[in-house]
Amino acid sequence: MSLTKRILLAMVLGIALGLVLNLFHAPGGWLDRYIVEGLFDIVGTVFVNSLKLLVVPLVFVSLVCGTASLGAQSRMGPMAAKTVGLYVLTTAVAITLAIAVASLVGPGKGLGLTSSGAADADFSLSLKDTIINIFPSNPVQAMADGVMLQVIVFAVLFGIAISRSGEKGKPIASFFNNLNEVVMQMILMLVQLAPYGVFCLLAKLFASMGFEVFEDLLFYFFTVIGVLLLQCFLVYPTLLKTLAGLNPLVFFRKMYPVQVFAFSTASSNATLPYTLSTVEKKLGVDNKVASFTLPLGATINMDGTSIMQGVATVFIAQAYGVDVGITGYLMVVLTATLASIGTAGVPGVGMVTLTMVLQQAGLPIEEGIALIIGVDRLLDMLRTSVNVTGDATVTAVVAKSEGLLEPATYNAHLPESAQ
Ligand code: ASP
Repeated sequence: MSLTKRILLAMVLGIALGLVLNLFHAPGGWLDRYIVEGLFDIVGTVFVNSLKLLVVPLVFVSLVCGTASLGAQSRMGPMAAKTVGLYVLTTAVAITLAIAVASLVGPGKGLGLTSSGAADADFSLSLKDTIINIFPSNPVQAMADGVMLQVIVFAVLFGIAISRSGEKGKPIASFFNNLNEVVMQMILMLVQLAPYGVFCLLAKLFASMGFEVFEDLLFYFFTVIGVLLLQCFLVYPTLLKTLAGLNPLVFFRKMYPVQVFAFSTASSNATLPYTLSTVEKKLGVDNKVASFTLPLGATINMDGTSIMQGVATVFIAQAYGVDVGITGYLMVVLTATLASIGTAGVPGVGMVTLTMVLQQAGLPIEEGIALIIGVDRLLDMLRTSVNVTGDATVTAVVAKSEGLLEPATYNAHLPESAQ
């Protein structure tokens, strides 16, 4: 069976087993201690850690290669501008869609909650700090702490410097190209673990999930899912077709294993090695583009997260009977776009940055979050799939416009063994 099919099968089996275990789940019992919190937790955590292990080396090495070859043709500037522009645009579309749909269907109407009026902590988004923090003062520390934007800035500078160093830079560039091959091989090796990892992560999650919380929040839950689906299967295909003339069906056929990966890990960062190898090898995007756009996207482009934040804002406003108003919602679009840039690609961070959005809208922060957090884990998984799909869409569009997407590879029908 191909790896893709095994991952998909593992997902289905993991969810099914988790649901069955959920029925017999007694916290602290032997099933819980040895299987769910024991075996499943160990394998799941080792799997996610082994992916995270590769993120910093991969982003650094791959981006140095990309910019070293791009720098020579000085295409870096226009490509970066296009990428950031599209990332901001897709996020703004996502959040606007979320607010519009949620206002129409009204998931929080009639809940009639009243805020206790307790003072909320101040979660202000300091633009100044955000900008300062993009630039590293110590590259080793940035790598050790996994601060991706800083690693990206250092790698881009390093790559451009290599290309400007003429003859002296050539051996360094070829060293990094070779190293890139080695890191890619490591990814291919570790990706083989995916079916086991996916199975254990999902079985553990579904075994220990309390489904009671869903009752009151079903409407909210399905509204978020509805908008996520719209973004994924309407907005992205439209962009692929109109801006790049690419067939969206091919895109989804090749991307769905990555989506399953993102779903099971709930982390754009942990999925990054797999996204990068899929986009380069199966969608035919040149490393020069993908090595820059994908790590950047995993860090600053969170369309799925913005959708959750948009629906959550409307939901909480309706539940507490607060009128946010058009200007209020426009500010929410702006704040959520900034929050998306500030959201790291790890599980659950979207909930943290939601505080800024709620604060901007003048909604009760702590009570609002307490209201929806019960169903957030599942939504986190779904929105992470949308986050990585958005990154790959923009990458394909930018690559096509730069003439750096190989149509033959994009359209190639993959043999079963290569899937
Ligand atoms: N888990 C998301 C991601 O990694 C971020 C979030 O929405 O919490 O993309």
